[in-house]
Amino acid sequence: MSAFQHPLGTNRFFVLNTGRTTMQAISMESETKWSTRYFNSVAILEMNPEDAKELGVKDRAKVTSDYGSVVLPVKISKRLPRGEIFIPMGPWANFLIGPDTDGTGMPTLKGIKVRVEATTEQPTTLEQLLKQLGAKGLEVYMEDLEVKPGEKKVVENVVCSFCGDLCDHLKIELDGNRIIRNVGGCAISVSKFLNYHRHRVLKPYIRKNGRLIPVDLEEALDKAADILVKAKYPLIFGLSSTCVEANEYAIELAEILNGVVDNTSVFCHGPTALAVQEVGAVRYTFAVAIHLADLVIFWGCNPAEAHPNHIARIVMRKGKYVKGRKERKVVVIDVRKTPTAELADLYIQLEPGRDLEFITALRMAIRDLEIEAPKVAGVPREKVLELAEMMKSARYGVIFFGLGVTMTGAKYRNIVGVIRLVQELNEWTKFGLLPMRGHFNVAGANEVSLWITCYPFATDYARKFSRMAIGVTSATDLLASGDVDALLVIASDPVAHFPRKAVENISKIPVIVVDAKWSLTTAFADVIIPAGFVGIECSGSAYRMDGVPLRMKKVVDPPSGVLCDVDILKKLIDKVKARMGLGR
Ligand code: SF4
Repeated sequence: MSAFQHPLGTNRFFVLNTGRTTMQAISMESETKWSTRYFNSVAILEMNPEDAKELGVKDRAKVTSDYGSVVLPVKISKRLPRGEIFIPMGPWANFLIGPDTDGTGMPTLKGIKVRVEATTEQPTTLEQLLKQLGAKGLEVYMEDLEVKPGEKKVVENVVCSFCGDLCDHLKIELDGNRIIRNVGGCAISVSKFLNYHRHRVLKPYIRKNGRLIPVDLEEALDKAADILVKAKYPLIFGLSSTCVEANEYAIELAEILNGVVDNTSVFCHGPTALAVQEVGAVRYTFAVAIHLADLVIFWGCNPAEAHPNHIARIVMRKGKYVKGRKERKVVVIDVRKTPTAELADLYIQLEPGRDLEFITALRMAIRDLEIEAPKVAGVPREKVLELAEMMKSARYGVIFFGLGVTMTGAKYRNIVGVIRLVQELNEWTKFGLLPMRGHFNVAGANEVSLWITCYPFATDYARKFSRMAIGVTSATDLLASGDVDALLVIASDPVAHFPRKAVENISKIPVIVVDAKWSLTTAFADVIIPAGFVGIECSGSAYRMDGVPLRMKKVVDPPSGVLCDVDILKKLIDKVKARMGLGR
């Protein structure tokens, strides 16, 4: 019996997988997470047609886990195997997710056991969710920045500040301070650049008597400094959608405050960073993949939706020694047939949460050890052997892997296994491994943290020196256990990403948000400080997912009175130091 079958054999338990989609990204970049468009793209449950028929599900269903319950509109999808459902990452999916990170800092965002039933109840609204999570207020004061026609200008070689691909060939056309064209960017990038002026936070706010009141920047910074200095154990979190330089100041602030500083890799590739610390890595850069790779494997990731330019840049591209797609084999390993899988020469569908078994079988096949079981992780033995042979006979193979590997089953042990696999493949041929990074500078956040603190994330300064105790000092665990007493969020939206229990605890502590747009975390904020967009209004450095640093250009000035993250953090550090009697 499968682990997810109902004990009475009625097959009423389903496996929930969450993930990114293109529409989710476009809706939040063009209209924010408070919009109907975001609701329509994220509050959705995809299920197999036969499962829907068997359950009598028509247009909506109720999903219940051990942690919560939501009602969602249903989209029937033949891409999903029976017994599995998919909900895009966001507050609805998070409501169903448990706080336990198994000591890795990473919540389990895939392979969650849930019950699904037909219902006539109305879909759960964002407001209902936020109220249940303890939001301090639901008011948002979105403003559109005034854009005026003026000098026409073209800025070339702009780096896209959305995902870890950091496409650096964008041509941005301006009419005054309005961005009118983005040439070279994918649909998500176009949406981000052309809507940069919409739905902005343009004033600082402080929450007084439950309501957000506009104040001047000095007052907001004073209030933020008071909160941080008063806290015994504050957490500084986010930092993956800002520049390297802002990360440096955030770490300095955490050290001054004897607090913790963590970045969003804690709920994406944190397990990868842990595995690399244990067994090293065999990395490569995009250039090597473009020019040499004749075998490209996507494992537990869906770049066709999450990194839309990636396939054109790496797989389709004509390299020096590999003449484009026709000389390149593509393999996709995943639990559902994603749009990326449709491009593959070989698609391998795994049973959820069983990657480690599959990795182990591949390692055995590569060493010519006998695999006795007819199937491994739901995959026929013959397919395991076929893939092993493709890997060994490749001239240069690369694996791009995503959260489908880091978040499921054995979590960081999966990554240890994949790294070992790649290390062993290098005895036969040349092979490399690269994590698909989500936020544009999450790789940079790890780099800076490593240089300064010796740890890639989750660094604690409570004892006046840096230490990382994963499962303890990781933001997810600290928030879920209620161990921190203040939260400073920089360019991130933990309320949209963290499990329910962590968000409930965010509602109980003072929260400072530094961001360019209204996020869901602003509903929990006591202080909101507007910031310029890095890569559009502020320059700075960022690291591409393959570890190559790039300079992010500024293409327009930030709004009047709005500072870049670096300057906000510098001012905050000065105010905190003054209150603590420390010189600068
Ligand atoms: S793939 Fe990523 S970095 Fe490249 S243009 Fe699209 S969103 Fe931007």
